[in-house]
Amino acid sequence: MSEKNGVIVVGGGIMGVSAAYWLASMGKQVTVLDQYDIPNALAASGDHLRVFRLTYGKDAFYTDMALKTLPLWLDLNAQSGEKLLQQNGVLDLAATTHGYEEQSYNVLKELKVAVQKIEKAELKRQYPMINSKAVKYAIFHKDGGMIWAAKAVTFLVSLAQRKGVKFRPRVKIAQILKDKKEGIKGIKDEHGHLHTGEAYLFAGGMWTPELLKGMNIPIKVTRQYQLYLRPPANRGRYRPEHFPVFASHSTGFYGFPLHLHGFMKIGDHRKGPPGKPGPGSETDLPPAFEKKCRAFLKRFIPELTNFTEYEGHVCHYDNTKDDDFIMDRLPDAPNGYVAAGFSGHGFKFGPLVGKTMAELIIGGKPELNLHRFRLGRFKGR
Ligand SMILES: Cc1cc2nc3c(=O)[nH]c(=O)nc-3n(C[C@H](O)[C@H](O)[C@H](O)COP(=O)(O)OP(=O)(O)OC[C@H]3O[C@@H](n4cnc5c(N)ncnc54)[C@H](O)[C@@H]3O)c2cc1C
Repeated sequence: MSEKNGVIVVGGGIMGVSAAYWLASMGKQVTVLDQYDIPNALAASGDHLRVFRLTYGKDAFYTDMALKTLPLWLDLNAQSGEKLLQQNGVLDLAATTHGYEEQSYNVLKELKVAVQKIEKAELKRQYPMINSKAVKYAIFHKDGGMIWAAKAVTFLVSLAQRKGVKFRPRVKIAQILKDKKEGIKGIKDEHGHLHTGEAYLFAGGMWTPELLKGMNIPIKVTRQYQLYLRPPANRGRYRPEHFPVFASHSTGFYGFPLHLHGFMKIGDHRKGPPGKPGPGSETDLPPAFEKKCRAFLKRFIPELTNFTEYEGHVCHYDNTKDDDFIMDRLPDAPNGYVAAGFSGHGFKFGPLVGKTMAELIIGGKPELNLHRFRLGRFKGR
């Protein structure tokens, strides 16, 4: 296959698909290659739900980035006629008085974002299932919520296709042909077929170190566990109309209301053990994690503790050392770009990441400041 004048995107997750849509919107011919289907359940973007939050403690950079992404999600909602971003709000449960939640609250206030501080008594009234004794106070922002991840990828694929983007699932890239002068001359798939374009974007998620082997992309993969559970009682009050996305920064736990056949989901954002991308053991939940979930629930949402119907889910983070992303041109390859290392918090930014990578590739100056995301920051560390 030859797409001499086009851009080749490797990776059909949220980042690759969204970049493809924006590149086509900016007039480029684009082909997206993925080793699996688009979307696929092995990729980080192939899950049902992801959190959209504006709270990032004192790190106003990410809050600002989420605010810049919000209109892009709302535009996708309008175009699809669906709530791909469902704004049922995010409730952050504070275990200390002057910590992450207070910092988040101050940043949102400063940026004039609607945010409420909910004291214990009011928390008990609004959310009787939450053990207010375990919480100093909570903050709630209504603009946050949950993104239907795989659905959003599918919708972006259909939008991109309307703009002429070609999607080639089940094409695994195995080799990158690089030349010191010309940069990338082509990429070969596992069957030896050559794919050539004017520029290449590598958005391979957790597979990036293998995809760009020899280029020293410092990403470490971790296994992250999640647990789907059916509330044993009072199910109705866990519907998204009544119950927001919730997070407890001090414990690492977060969760979603009922969304899948009467099941809700909880997960731990803290880094899990080293993982390996690819098929195998996706539902292999260690009993220790189930125990941790029950301990979290006993403390914060006691009536859920003794759940009996549940299922495990294993997913992988592609982590950088500092949890900042990698969005840059590749060293020694003026026509090669990478968007990866989204460290377990990238999905919410997908549409903006795609737009920014497209701006970078067409040679414009991206609106987003990419200083924090440059590859060069890892040198000598
Ligand atoms: C358990 C879990 C919970 C998360 N929760 C949140 C959250 O609440 N909010 C949030 O914002 N983010 C969250 N994230 C992070 C978010 O899901 C990811 O940052 C995002 O989905 C990454 O998208 P991506 O396109 O970079 O990678 P992926 O979605 O993994 O896509 C990469 C694609 O590249 C393809 N590929 C790789 N190598 C090759 C090759 N050699 N040839 C061809 N194709 C290839 C793969 O098949 C894959 O489809 C979470 C992640 C996990 C795992």
